[in-house]
Amino acid sequence: VAASLVSGNAAGADEAMQRVLDQSRVAAGAQQGEVYLIGVGPGDPDLLTLRAQQLLQQADVILHDRLVPEAILSRARRDAERINVGKSPGAHEHTQEYINQLLVKQAQTGRRVARVKGGDPFIFGRGGEELQVLREAGIPVVVVPGITAGLGAAASAGIPLTLRGQSQAVTLVTATGANSSSLNWPALASPQQTVVFYMSAAQIDHIVAQLRTHGLPGAQPVALIERATWPQERILKSTLAELPALARGAGLLSPTLLIVGEVAALAQVRGWIAGQDALQSAQGKGGE
Ligand code: SAH
Repeated sequence: VAASLVSGNAAGADEAMQRVLDQSRVAAGAQQGEVYLIGVGPGDPDLLTLRAQQLLQQADVILHDRLVPEAILSRARRDAERINVGKSPGAHEHTQEYINQLLVKQAQTGRRVARVKGGDPFIFGRGGEELQVLREAGIPVVVVPGITAGLGAAASAGIPLTLRGQSQAVTLVTATGANSSSLNWPALASPQQTVVFYMSAAQIDHIVAQLRTHGLPGAQPVALIERATWPQERILKSTLAELPALARGAGLLSPTLLIVGEVAALAQVRGWIAGQDALQSAQGKGGE
């Protein structure tokens, strides 16, 4: 460590120090590594659970996705190592296999590893796959549930997902890529329920076409919620018929989700000016 420091190689010194610490931890047999699979909610740090916060403060290393805000990461121990394993547009994308192996390797050095995920770890978060790999490797795992984006967004927009008399069920679904062709569209288009689409901003035309083909009326209320619970949250309220034009004009940013159902009409559109602008610019461009 000293040799690296003297030669001005700070990164090398850090690395050497980490190695020494890890070795001594393992040698002391003081501690078996473990993984905390933590859901941190949709973005607002006030929506962290107490357990999430406690474990963030215990972890030696934090593996997080791109969308986990700094306001949450800054609740972790200040000296914890941070590894961004998220997909950033255009940049090198870590495969799930790489992340799985990194989790195992980090824990096997005796470290306490926080795997931090937006929302809930088991809702479209691939937390289930990570849990399985860690179990197979014999590594203890603590799973901390989080408020999934659909619930956070609905609460934030004032949309009661299962309002008595209007919605008897709520379905969380993703319509991305390969999965979308196997979706049960007739079921998703049936009345008296609410459907929350994750990871689907790019699929809006397809979703609308499928739902209408399977019987939902053009007047069916919908809400798009962009960056739910973030300071920049935007809520757009519309109908199925008008949604494609609205979405095209809105310049949607990630992450966004779509809520389809009678209850979407109850959305409180605080960002209504932005929404109106988007609608007008879409209509101005001759949208449907
Ligand atoms: N495990 C996460 C979901 C991961 S999939 C959870 O339980 O919430 C990522 C998708 O979640 C995004 O494409 C988007 O549809 C949705 N999402 C996550 N955070 C969001 C937010 N703050 N606002 C709106 N949608 C969000």
